[in-house]
Amino acid sequence: MTLVKAYAAEKADKPLAPFKIDRREPGAKDVEIEILYCGVCHSDIHTARNEWGGTIYPVVPGHEIVGKVTRVGNDVTNHKVGDTVGVGCFVDSCGHCANCKDDLEQYCENGNTQTYNSKSQDKKTITSGGYSTHIVVTEGFVLKISDKLNLAAVAPLLCAGITTYSPLKHWNCKKGDKVAVVGLGGLGHMAVKLAASMGAEVTMLSRSPEKAKDADELGAHHFELTTKPENMKKLAHSFDLIIDTVSAEHDYNSYLSLLKTNGTMVLLGVPPEALPVHAGSLIFGRRSLVGSLVGGIKETQEMLDYCAEHNIVSDIEMINIDQINEAYERTLKGDVHYRFVIDMKSLKE
Ligand code: NAP
Ligand code: ZN
Repeated sequence: MTLVKAYAAEKADKPLAPFKIDRREPGAKDVEIEILYCGVCHSDIHTARNEWGGTIYPVVPGHEIVGKVTRVGNDVTNHKVGDTVGVGCFVDSCGHCANCKDDLEQYCENGNTQTYNSKSQDKKTITSGGYSTHIVVTEGFVLKISDKLNLAAVAPLLCAGITTYSPLKHWNCKKGDKVAVVGLGGLGHMAVKLAASMGAEVTMLSRSPEKAKDADELGAHHFELTTKPENMKKLAHSFDLIIDTVSAEHDYNSYLSLLKTNGTMVLLGVPPEALPVHAGSLIFGRRSLVGSLVGGIKETQEMLDYCAEHNIVSDIEMINIDQINEAYERTLKGDVHYRFVIDMKSLKE
């Protein structure tokens, strides 16, 4: 075991504070990573504050990790000391269920191991995430990162990037499709960039008028304020695909009415409360309401390679670890442009 520095929430209503955690010695198949950057996802906030229930305290969040390999076990073949690598939302899975065999480890039928607040496959040890100096991960869950891109801006691809890439691919986003993205935050800004790169005509649906210029720069072709009822009326029957990234309570029915016949709305945001859906919102127009969870390891590598090829990274604001609580407050106010990334050097000092 190695004792390493981290930042943890000790209770739902307590700010994150310095903490120490044990990292296992790398086993034969393990890769030890010195963390350089970690993105701040809204899921970190939901978990730190126990908004979904089930948080095991103290919790060390963080699942958008980029770092350098510092040690490898004897049987590791894919990574070597000095490589630039990434870790996303999960670090292990059963490996033998139908979904794992299908490269869909995020849907592991026996329960995958998430990067934090989750049981390891030994069903005992609770995982700690990327707000720490080092992490040890079995090699099959470690991604290769191109040194071509700004590494701090690559970190958010490990969650926000793959979470938006996966449904765009699954629902076959292509040239000329009319795609709407709801909510311009971490996930939303990646959805705009990725959908535009695939040739879609992208509309940003936001409650924040001050984000219109940014949406345009990110590649959105149109910007519509959702707070104006006349806009929502005008947009009825407009979209093939809607990507909903909103983290708080909102009316699914009003967005479903914006879909064309046979259109699909994908839920990515996870508001803590259950929200009503009227059958009529789906029936009139044979519409689909679906959800999607991050992406498998194979698809995550495909997304990272796609982003390197197309020069796509996240728009970030770099912070030191001692600014994490302020960053949470600003994210909750929608004041994030468009992902906070922690410079992990600040934890070592
Ligand atoms: P974020 O950066 O905070 O962005 C969320 C955006 O939603 C905000 O910027 C805001 O955009 C909009 N919004 C927030 N509160 C709203 C409200 N009350 N009404 C209407 N719009 C509101 O969060 P994120 O990191 O992108 O994460 C978004 C959600 O996705 C979270 O619930 C997170 O847990 C979830 N998530 C899911 C997955 C998955 O696999 N499905 C993966 C990662 C994260 P505007 O100001 O433009 O309206
Ligand atoms: Zn996330």
